[in-house]
Amino acid sequence: MSDYRNNDIRNLAIIAHVDHGKTTLVDALLKQGKVFRDHQQVGELIMDTNPLERERGITILAKNASVSFNGVRINIIDTPGHADFSGEVERVMNMADGCLLLVDAVDGPMPQTTYVLRQALQQNVTPMVVINKVDRPEARIAEVVGLVQDLFLELATKSEQLDYPVLYTSAREGYASADPDVRGTDMQPLFEAVLDSVPAPTGDPDAPLQMLVAALDYNNYMGQVAVGRITNGTLKLRDDVALMTRNGEPTIHNLERICVFRGMERVEVEEAYAGDVVAVTGPEGVSIGDTIACRENPVALPSIDINEPTVRMT
Ligand code: GDP
Repeated sequence: MSDYRNNDIRNLAIIAHVDHGKTTLVDALLKQGKVFRDHQQVGELIMDTNPLERERGITILAKNASVSFNGVRINIIDTPGHADFSGEVERVMNMADGCLLLVDAVDGPMPQTTYVLRQALQQNVTPMVVINKVDRPEARIAEVVGLVQDLFLELATKSEQLDYPVLYTSAREGYASADPDVRGTDMQPLFEAVLDSVPAPTGDPDAPLQMLVAALDYNNYMGQVAVGRITNGTLKLRDDVALMTRNGEPTIHNLERICVFRGMERVEVEEAYAGDVVAVTGPEGVSIGDTIACRENPVALPSIDINEPTVRMT
């Protein structure tokens, strides 16, 4: 059983220009997550370490991850780091309630920073800003904060989006601080800022099921894997669900596997609730933008723009 409910989940997209430190930051968050874990009692974690589950875990979206802090699971949703016009940024942003805009303290905002931030703000994802590489002697922190602010003034679609928190990190050295003049000791201030500023997902776990498919993958062992966020309702293993495509009548499929993200691993669960980001198998012929809905009362969600679906062989 996945025992996380809406209030215990945050869905965070990390957006950055290439080389600004996204990979290093995610590593630092995962490492810090492990430190938190080592200090808490075992319980929920026992299931994560089932070797069989690990072995069968779906090897998809390898860069998606999750990390727990104070009983809240933060799903980290990776976005393409290169200029991407195929709609992938839009699709993955669809799974997030918050976005962490990572900006290099030396380079400042770059073209991809503008592109992904514009997309996030248009999709009404709550922003936070992280100025990274503050350890570098050439860091020009105050100036870069000003440039980021100019960018927000240009791109914000409503005034609340200007009220974002700013954190200062050295992802490489593994610390974050809410004060640019104070060197942090670990990543905890960043976790606190995520919990404070990113809204918990909305959605009613007792309402009819609706999950929007935001990404697809293919796995030789399991076939087609659909990834997305549960907007409403509860996914239950072995339930029949309706697949609603753009054109055509809903088709009925059995849910064969449901996976959630824990650390860098995919863990199979029996149930997952509204607000969570999951990977499922069972439904066949799925396209990005389709809705997986409850069999009895299938209602499609507004579709997202699709171009070429991303299908990788793993
Ligand atoms: P990505 O392309 O955004 O995923 O960037 P990477 O995480 O691969 O980082 C790009 C480069 O910046 C690598 O050489 C990192 O070691 C370096 N880097 C990342 N974070 C920091 C940091 O906080 N301080 C310094 N000095 N270097 C960093």
